[in-house]
Amino acid sequence: ASTPVDDAASPQVAFLAPEQLAGGESFAYQSDIARLMRVVVSHLYHDRDVFVRELLSNANDALEKVRLLALTDPKILEPAEQLNVTVLADAASGRIVIRDSGVGMTKEQLAANLGTIARSGTSEFLENLDKGDGSNLIGQFGLGFYSSFLVADRVTVASKTADKSEQYVFESEADAEGFKIAKDPRGPTLGRGTEITLHLKPDARGEYLDVNKLRSLIQKHAEYNSAPIFLWSSTS
Ligand code: ADP
Ligand code: MG
Repeated sequence: ASTPVDDAASPQVAFLAPEQLAGGESFAYQSDIARLMRVVVSHLYHDRDVFVRELLSNANDALEKVRLLALTDPKILEPAEQLNVTVLADAASGRIVIRDSGVGMTKEQLAANLGTIARSGTSEFLENLDKGDGSNLIGQFGLGFYSSFLVADRVTVASKTADKSEQYVFESEADAEGFKIAKDPRGPTLGRGTEITLHLKPDARGEYLDVNKLRSLIQKHAEYNSAPIFLWSSTS
């Protein structure tokens, strides 16, 4: 199936400054995670494009969950967002924003899903990494989200579920020992879903803010996504 990839004027995103999360709670990563994050980043350095695949696949999973839940709980569709994914390349700020109208995450789910690893098997992962294809392994071992740190030195995830009125933010830096979770000071900006802001490393900006490059990476994965993906770029 073909999926439209579009670019036009930019949707408005109010970026959060780090000090706006100062009132949040800080959590330490399990010791394995900080280590795995470093291993993922150093092993996949020459395959940084995989972050697009992993984040789009997570967005697609979240949209599939909405479709499935809607069969028994139509209220999940009350926040009337269309089921889609929006990618914004913001050259002025050096950021990429990936927003989906999927299931979203509560405060507890942000901490559990992004701050811990569901599948144990660190040593198995590391053994396989020496032999095999790291870019496939991160998907198999549930480490896809951490591929964000291939290109970003800071990642901010705002998320909201349909049944809660609050929106929470998860934030972590590359090489950090922990992460922060705070109530979103912007208030709920999403009806339902997740918005991931990648604060690109200086050496990743030229490549991934190039809309033609980003479009071709998105198109490669669009066939696996069942919802439309819209690409926007702001150049000023
Ligand atoms: P996996 O997708 O294999 O579980 P990931 O590291 O890619 O591993 O993602 C970890 C978890 O974080 C997912 O299982 C999901 O629960 C949650 N998650 C990640 N991205 C999103 C998103 N866009 N919307 C909702 N949940 C998400
Ligand atoms: Mg994933």
